[in-house]
Amino acid sequence: AWANVPQGPPDPILGVTEKFKADPSPNKINLGVGAYRDGKGNPFVLPSVKKAEKQLVRAGANHEYLPITGLASFNKLAAELAYGKDSAPLKEGRLAITQSISGTGALRIAAAFLGRFYPESKTIYVPTPTWGNHIPLAKDSGLEVKHYKYFDKSTVGLDFEGMKADIEAAPEGSIIMLHACAHNPTGVDPTESQWKELSEIIKQKKHFPFFDMAYQGFASGDIVKDAFAVRYFVEQGHQLLLCQSFAKNLGLYGERVGAVSFVCADKEEKARVDSQLKIIIRPMYSNPPIHGARIVSAILGDEKLYNDWLSEVKKMADRIISMREKLYTNLVKLNTPGEWGHIKSQIGMFSFTGLTPEQVDKLAEKASIYMTRDGRISMAALNKKNIDYFAKAVSQAVKG
Ligand code: PMP
Repeated sequence: AWANVPQGPPDPILGVTEKFKADPSPNKINLGVGAYRDGKGNPFVLPSVKKAEKQLVRAGANHEYLPITGLASFNKLAAELAYGKDSAPLKEGRLAITQSISGTGALRIAAAFLGRFYPESKTIYVPTPTWGNHIPLAKDSGLEVKHYKYFDKSTVGLDFEGMKADIEAAPEGSIIMLHACAHNPTGVDPTESQWKELSEIIKQKKHFPFFDMAYQGFASGDIVKDAFAVRYFVEQGHQLLLCQSFAKNLGLYGERVGAVSFVCADKEEKARVDSQLKIIIRPMYSNPPIHGARIVSAILGDEKLYNDWLSEVKKMADRIISMREKLYTNLVKLNTPGEWGHIKSQIGMFSFTGLTPEQVDKLAEKASIYMTRDGRISMAALNKKNIDYFAKAVSQAVKG
């Protein structure tokens, strides 16, 4: 039956892990995966998550179905975390929100909703580069994907002029996808004043802002600071949509906990949007998984656990930031040719090193160090034990 099915290419990120696994070297490092690792290189279960799970077991939680849009307490708390308790759409009861299968599922529901109901455009503009999965998921949902400039290779920073020009040049009413914080893969974010300019341009052009926030708290260690763009756009009256993921900031990768929300004009509009979200979700997966949503709800809804969690996110973010500083210092000490300031200034889990595909190949071959060929590294994979080895290998690869 499947004689005409062509062989597809492997996933570029998961392919890195395959090669890493096959390498027998004791020094090998996998910088490809976007999952946090502790100071010893191990996966990390947050203490607040462990406590919440114990509470759930003790309470004898059942395994009944959730409603189509998920756990109500989770949705309320997720919205408050992103928008702030005092946010006008929340207070006025005009935020339509549903639980989703993590951030990817949120994006998929959002794209399907836009494909069905957004009247102005079926074109979504994403930054160049963007998280690889944005493109196929938008296309599979029936949207056309176009790009706006984002990254400037020569400065290893933001091409703000190019970004503004491209967003301005997009036909009125276009969908503009924005990474709310900790842009993946570059680690380069607009500043607060640049966000303000972007809000103005998007408003003038009547574009639709589509925020993907997969790293709230993980970028700076401060959940409010990381939500700046989203909250500012809402204050400015944008009827945006927002995708949230709890994979990184709560370390709940495999639990698949996320949310997608739409700021609506009023309660009546919210009710109509809610009804269509249910109609999209029901034939897709019926209803979301319960366990992770309960964990998030238990943490965000309890003052003590919430505060514990805030300090745990900050610790994860700070460890990553300290690795940035150490890597920068080492590269400079080793007289590595080039400018390495971006390693320190980039934000979040990833760094776009500026290494060329040839240098990436050489690092794999000579030093058993694995990363995607675009030179993106997960800073979370670095620790006190491997950072000197890594810096030396990079320095040698750059020196040629
Ligand atoms: N958006 C971005 C920008 C991401 O980097 C990721 C995770 N790599 C996601 C969304 C979604 O991840 P998940 O489905 O695991 O929440």
